[in-house]
Amino acid sequence: MSAQEFLRTLVAAAGFLCFQSSALAQPPIRLTTDLTDHARGILHAHMEIPVKSGPLTLGYPKWIPGEHAPTGTLNQIITLRFQAGGKVIPWRRDDVEIYNFHLDIPVGVRTLEADLDFASTDMEEGFASTVATSDHAAVLNWWQVVLFPVDQSADQIEFQPSLRIPAGWKFGTSLPIAHQAAESVEFSPVSLRVLIDSPVLAAEHFRAIPIGSKHRVELDLAGESDQAIAISADQVASFRRLIAETESLFGGAPYRTYHLLLCLSDPLAHYTLEHASSSDNRFIGDALYAPRKFVTTASTIPHEYVHAWNGKARTPVGLATLNYQQPLKGDLVWVYEGLTEYLGMMLTTRSGFWTPEEFREALALDAGQMATHPGRRWRSLEDTALGAQLLATAPTAWLTERRSTDFYPEGALIWMEADTTIRQLSGGKHSLDDFCKLFLAPAMAGAQKTYRLDEVVALLNHVQPYDWNSFFASRLMETKAEPPLGGISAAGWHLTYAANETGMVRDLEAAHKSDLLWPLWNREATVDARFSIGLLLSADGTVLDASRDMAAFEAGIAPGMRIVSINGRAFTPEELHRSIAATESGGKLQMIREHNGVHAAVEVHDQNGERFPSLVREPKDKDLLSDIVAPHAVN
Ligand SMILES: [Zn+2]
Repeated sequence: MSAQEFLRTLVAAAGFLCFQSSALAQPPIRLTTDLTDHARGILHAHMEIPVKSGPLTLGYPKWIPGEHAPTGTLNQIITLRFQAGGKVIPWRRDDVEIYNFHLDIPVGVRTLEADLDFASTDMEEGFASTVATSDHAAVLNWWQVVLFPVDQSADQIEFQPSLRIPAGWKFGTSLPIAHQAAESVEFSPVSLRVLIDSPVLAAEHFRAIPIGSKHRVELDLAGESDQAIAISADQVASFRRLIAETESLFGGAPYRTYHLLLCLSDPLAHYTLEHASSSDNRFIGDALYAPRKFVTTASTIPHEYVHAWNGKARTPVGLATLNYQQPLKGDLVWVYEGLTEYLGMMLTTRSGFWTPEEFREALALDAGQMATHPGRRWRSLEDTALGAQLLATAPTAWLTERRSTDFYPEGALIWMEADTTIRQLSGGKHSLDDFCKLFLAPAMAGAQKTYRLDEVVALLNHVQPYDWNSFFASRLMETKAEPPLGGISAAGWHLTYAANETGMVRDLEAAHKSDLLWPLWNREATVDARFSIGLLLSADGTVLDASRDMAAFEAGIAPGMRIVSINGRAFTPEELHRSIAATESGGKLQMIREHNGVHAAVEVHDQNGERFPSLVREPKDKDLLSDIVAPHAVN
């Protein structure tokens, strides 16, 4: 069978969940939200919920899609009141599921009114809770302001949302607009699933730029100033190439229109999240005109865009829940996130946001991190996926020992090895691109189809027969020191450690505290000595993490301590790098460390000098990496 015939057979056999609600029996919940108090960070919401008399339980979204965790913004509700016909309706929170609210609806009441105020305050490490409003811009995620009957499917509950926006502001969203006036917009009725999946980016300084060719794709830029959104023609060209390369990779698009929301703002927390017909990307204010800052965050845009296919149109069965009150099961997030991470990095380069060298630097950093995580000796990669709901917000201290959301970087390495395996076994005839077309080719806009691992394996076998079950089982279940680097070597490169920092590491070290996170990179980190003496430190010498079995840990240094001086000189990031470099020619690393007010002298024994992960060519092998990241789309 051709790929298309095979796909049609699968589509016919599988049955789709359709997320565009239609002809639902119940009248919609009317939801009016007001963004005009943005400067104080307060969102006001008013709901009119059709009800019957008797007990009713309303839920506030707890498990946030894409965050794989119970990160619902419950602590940010600052007012919640219910009434019907002018009379207050009392409520009581469930004593176990505290995201649920119980009410008893009096006889004769047909409409329950709810008033909810949400405060967008600074909640560090909060994912969905992060600051989303400023004087000039706001991102509305509807999970912040909705309540819904907990016993119903998010596909069946219908909402009719409307929004009051500040005078002179513009906005972008994938929600269908029914009516628009100067300071308000009424959207067409949508299911709760679509509503939660359709954030609104609104700002005083706003530009919408068409970047699609086959489908309507819009780059919605918003910022604190016109300078922040002054995008260059070259950058717009890269965005256009991203859309063309991605739609070409998957052989179509799972959306009718797509809004790539990009907010450039320092006051808003930096954060990205995928949606089916949009993505919510929030970068630092100068990201577009300080290009080195853009490099360290660029791959998140293709990553979130790829999720429209891998994650939204196709989703692991454990992540397809009735509504937002059921736990999300992470067993297949190494497909959801790991494959997306690999394809995202690949497309960042195919579209020109990264050079092939920057792609190799990023890949080397991922591989180097995985190669120096001692936690891999006790904890399998699959276990990091199962623990996803807590790992994303776990502290950096002991990250290398505990392991982290390694299913992103290590998942990318595994999928790269799958790619090179297909390329080698098929003699260059096939690649992971062919699997992507089978697995992720969209059947219809707005539909979501769940999958299990069996289907992933069957489709890989269709592209290239191989023992894919064993391939994945060994890489997911085993606990061993060596990470899966087979993809890098099969692509004609190998991981080594160089004395000179790569541009990517230098940019990460120079990144401002509030810059977007690199996978597994702490926002405070300013010194990357993880690969030499096993330390990640902030600018003042605070030890963010120390790797077991490496020189600094052996000398008694642990997370939470602070390096005060090195060889008699006060700690600075430059002094530490200089002193580590000097160990190669016999230099010492005599340090004073401080911990809870106690100072102690330690000596770190190291003779290797500076070490940064880097990829080196194996001249005898074919360079598959260059083929993988070369532009593919025919323009
Ligand atoms: Zn992701």
